[in-house]
Amino acid sequence: MGESRVRECARPECTRIFVDRSRGGKRQWCGMEECGNRIKAANYRSRKSRLTATGV
Ligand SMILES: [Zn+2]
Repeated sequence: MGESRVRECARPECTRIFVDRSRGGKRQWCGMEECGNRIKAANYRSRKSRLTATGV
């Protein structure tokens, strides 16, 4: 199928546009290594810092 989905990266700080070629169009970020991992790392970090903040 020649279906192409042009999307905007789900990361707020990123304004890049990418073509989602994955099945089902589940892709949310322009690049998993660039933005996908950063979002995951940010979530993990905020959770961790929150724990340390309340722990101390
Ligand atoms: Zn991005």
